[in-house]
Amino acid sequence: MNNIVVIGIGLIGGSMVKDLKKVHPATKIIGVDTNADHVNQALVSGLIDEKGTLDSVKNADLVILSIPVDASVALLPEILDLVSDDTLVIDVGSTKLDVCHKVEHHINRRNYLSCHPIAGTEFSGPQAAINGLFKDKTNIICEVEKTAFKLQESALRVFSDLGMRIRYMNPESHDKHIAYVSHLSHISSFMLGKTVIDKERNERDIFDMAGSGFASTVRLAKSSPNMWTPIFKQNKTNVIETLDEYINNLNQFKILLEKDDFEAIFNEMKNTNRIKDILKGIA
Ligand code: NAP
Repeated sequence: MNNIVVIGIGLIGGSMVKDLKKVHPATKIIGVDTNADHVNQALVSGLIDEKGTLDSVKNADLVILSIPVDASVALLPEILDLVSDDTLVIDVGSTKLDVCHKVEHHINRRNYLSCHPIAGTEFSGPQAAINGLFKDKTNIICEVEKTAFKLQESALRVFSDLGMRIRYMNPESHDKHIAYVSHLSHISSFMLGKTVIDKERNERDIFDMAGSGFASTVRLAKSSPNMWTPIFKQNKTNVIETLDEYINNLNQFKILLEKDDFEAIFNEMKNTNRIKDILKGIA
């Protein structure tokens, strides 16, 4: 692999090229980003070898599209217009249906592999990029049959270099299931953070009283609104369904408290303790 172009040199794109550069030190990493500060930070830290433009994808072996999901839907067709037959284009967006629909009839659809690495942190930008982010994590690939065979093989080598496990899914199932395990968790964390911030007079009080349970539950509320607003917009229908179920559970819990039904509350929590077994193996 001679050239990798990473469009969006933030947490995900930056972490990917960081690990790929270790495995392929001779590969040139070219960074494209609308944020000039991020490009400079990435150059200074050695995350990228040079700054590129959209035209850089013409000579790329691999293009990693790692920008907010609405921007990916807009940019992916332009990228596919420019690439050569041998270029693999992957996107890492957290929603898959809109982006797959957008390019379903593109003449170069076979150059594109749609995926979602289930790995991340609450931080953004090139300084958030870390080594080993994807090791032993799941990468969900959608519509694999629409990608050229030789490019599927290249992609699997890249994901193997990153240490990822592969799962295949259609975009509809991906967006439905990810709404529960990722999108709802973020809303729940944002709204828990909001509830406490609204109630407390200043952040110092929160900090003084908050334990590690609070900190870990609101961790996701530090995530970037730039990234999450388009995700909620694209996956609105599924997210509303998960919210209905979650709000119903919260209301049920409140009703049990109002009725002093502590036996039922105990049982609810006991049943939910099963999450320990379900989560075993997810670091
Ligand atoms: P990030 O750290 O904010 O990096 C994205 C970078 O792309 C930023 O430098 C951003 O600049 C830039 N950018 C925005 N629009 C652009 C455009 N049209 N063209 C070129 N550059 C553009 O975001 P991230 O967390 O890496 O997320 C990137 C993608 O990965 C998203 O699609 C997200 O859904 C997906 N993803 C994220 C996670 C996670 O945990 N964070 C996990 C899996 C997948 P500005 O900062 O100025 O906007």
